[in-house]
Amino acid sequence: MILKIRTEGDPVLRMKAKPVTQIDDTMRKLASDMLETMYAAPGVGLAAPQVGELVRLVVIDVGDGPEVLFNPEIVSFTGEAVDVEGCLSIPGMQGMVKRAAHVVVTADDRYGRKIRLAGGGMLAKALQHEIDHLDGILYVDKAYDIGPAEVDEDEQEES
Ligand code: ZN
Repeated sequence: MILKIRTEGDPVLRMKAKPVTQIDDTMRKLASDMLETMYAAPGVGLAAPQVGELVRLVVIDVGDGPEVLFNPEIVSFTGEAVDVEGCLSIPGMQGMVKRAAHVVVTADDRYGRKIRLAGGGMLAKALQHEIDHLDGILYVDKAYDIGPAEVDEDEQEES
């Protein structure tokens, strides 16, 4: 089921999401609906507050297949990288954001198993962007050179 993506100005995007204590069918359904919504947008990542659910859940697919991350936490940041970002909750805009170049994230998968994800490039960028959403932080809080997104259908990187 495709969910409605909340846009900037909706107070839910500024609230802190709660940890998921029980990963049950309701949570798994939310995760699969979020993946469907993300692919339809299209985007490379989506956080639960973007669909109005204040739980610590993000989904990501930067081209290596879907990742469902409950209670994700960044346990290590390395280096610095500045890159362009957009957000499905702020349609039509983009900005430059400085983030860690490489991150290590731990999370629970859809069966409640601990997983560990490490990466640089687009994965590092998407993980940091999505985890910020869980704390009510939008990329525009950190970005400079914010302006209309360049139209480039080959480079859909909104999350
Ligand atoms: Zn976003």
